[in-house]
Amino acid sequence: MPVNSGSSSPYPSFDEVVRFHGHTCPGLATGYQASIAAMKALGVTRPRDEELVAIAETNACGVDAIQVVTGCTAGKGNLIIHDYGKHVFTFINRENGEAVRIQTKQPDIPERASLHELRPRVFSGTATDEEKQAYHSLMHTIVKKMLALDPEEMVTIEKVTVQPPSEAEIFASIPCECCGEQVADARTREYEGKKICIPCFLRKTGTT
Ligand SMILES: [Zn+2]
Ligand SMILES: [Zn+2]
Repeated sequence: MPVNSGSSSPYPSFDEVVRFHGHTCPGLATGYQASIAAMKALGVTRPRDEELVAIAETNACGVDAIQVVTGCTAGKGNLIIHDYGKHVFTFINRENGEAVRIQTKQPDIPERASLHELRPRVFSGTATDEEKQAYHSLMHTIVKKMLALDPEEMVTIEKVTVQPPSEAEIFASIPCECCGEQVADARTREYEGKKICIPCFLRKTGTT
């Protein structure tokens, strides 16, 4: 049953997510459904503080839905964001060690093709008012159709084994052995036997 259809849902409503994010969009709807699918798979309803850890492989819109629905937030340290450009989210239940890797699927919604067609013009500012209006109404239709699906129809769920970072790791600060600035231990990289911060690591390895 679609999760958004009744007031009996234990999950925050999509409206709450939109309020937090600032606008409605398919990415947000995807993150919303992925969060609920994950919580159902892990048997968690309203998360208590830091019970769950989320690892997002994208930094796009969907991440905001995760923060509202699952309680995993950037500021609490139980949301880890890797900017890999992949709509993949791993959720770990710290209480029992269970984890799921959620890969989101693009549901078969015919309006998506027209939206893609209009997008370049809308974002380059060359769209007519009519086209802009069409774009927005297409987007609302797509989001509505996404939310009418069972969350499980929008994702594939895989049980995985992952070690969540411990709170000690998240909050321990050490000086980077290269620049000397304080850095969270969990975010350091090994380079020639030294623990260094990521900006130093990137400089040394010439990667960006
Ligand atoms: Zn968005
Ligand atoms: Zn450094």
